[in-house]
Amino acid sequence: MVEGNTERIAEAFAVALGRDRVRRAVALDSRTTFRTGGAADWFLETRSAAEIVRAIEVCRQVALPVTLLGGGSNVLVGERGVRGLVLRIWRGAIGIPRPGVVRADGGVTLNGLIRWMVSRGLAGLERWAGTPGTVGGGLHGNAHFQGELLGAHLVRACLADANGRVREVAPAALELGYDTSRLQRSGEAVLWAEFAAHDDAPAALRKVAGASLAYRKRTQPLAVPSAGCIFQNPDGTRDAVPDGIPPSAGALIDRAGLKGLSVGGAQVSRLHGNFIVSEGRATASDIRRLMETCRETVYGRLGVMLRDEIVCLGEFDWQGAPAPRRPAEACG
Ligand SMILES: Cc1cc2nc3c(=O)[nH]c(=O)nc-3n(C[C@H](O)[C@H](O)[C@H](O)COP(=O)(O)OP(=O)(O)OC[C@H]3O[C@@H](n4cnc5c(N)ncnc54)[C@H](O)[C@@H]3O)c2cc1C
Repeated sequence: MVEGNTERIAEAFAVALGRDRVRRAVALDSRTTFRTGGAADWFLETRSAAEIVRAIEVCRQVALPVTLLGGGSNVLVGERGVRGLVLRIWRGAIGIPRPGVVRADGGVTLNGLIRWMVSRGLAGLERWAGTPGTVGGGLHGNAHFQGELLGAHLVRACLADANGRVREVAPAALELGYDTSRLQRSGEAVLWAEFAAHDDAPAALRKVAGASLAYRKRTQPLAVPSAGCIFQNPDGTRDAVPDGIPPSAGALIDRAGLKGLSVGGAQVSRLHGNFIVSEGRATASDIRRLMETCRETVYGRLGVMLRDEIVCLGEFDWQGAPAPRRPAEACG
């Protein structure tokens, strides 16, 4: 970074947001569930929607790229770090704007929202209990659990675009599909989202949430760092999964004989084939290399090209072939 430019950017942030709100060279590893990766050139953990909008406006004025981060549970950050501002949309408020609807800020954790709803006898999201991350991150990838999509419960969302313009949108405008939303293309930030809620007994909701948590404990390696499922499940309209194999990325990885395979400190989980785990010493490039090995091997042995579910952010030491992505989404 050129020093004069750095001072100009620091001054612009200080004027808009207050001195020392935006910090430089902030490590991101502890802000992701993979617990690896480099630093953000600039970093702000936001306190309000107004602050998110101001930060985006400053970045536009000084031509600084913005990367959004929530709970960091679906990202892999390169060891060379992330250029520009990492805007961590974290925490916020929950309320009932009108009967039958719950509104949560984009930085509220899904688990926090579910606890809040369950304790008030409000049903709708309890099956997502145990999904790490935030409301904003959840809508970005339209978090899914056992065939259900989070977006199916969405009533309205409020977004800020790359110019800082704020607008409310209906669910259809978000183009929510399996592991997709328009946010992946537009880079808009979720400021808040409203979900449908109906009355039910807290005890009944706790039972459903408990069953989801128990299922996760049984099937996912929760004691070690990971980012959940690495690859999307194959798409029946595009991918020809060989007969006898369930249409899931985990089953394909398992059938290709990759469970337990390691690169450096990264390993394909023995419990769940679509999880890559780190014992705490995997570099981001170890994980990227292992991802590519899985992709190539599954393609070579079973003819299905796996697509990333996790989002790669920033710059990596590893300089392999770019991963196949959803159209118009970059992977650094
Ligand atoms: C153990 C484990 C289990 C998991 N189980 C599931 C599961 O069952 N189902 C599932 O779908 N996922 C699962 N995941 C993945 C992850 O929990 C979800 O994708 C989660 O919704 C990501 O939210 P996040 O806030 O952590 O997003 P991040 O990882 O911080 O970000 C992911 C993407 O969302 C964007 N983003 C973040 N915040 C916002 C915002 N406010 N506005 C717009 N864009 C934003 C980021 O720019 C990034 O591109 C699991 C992960 C782990 C570690």
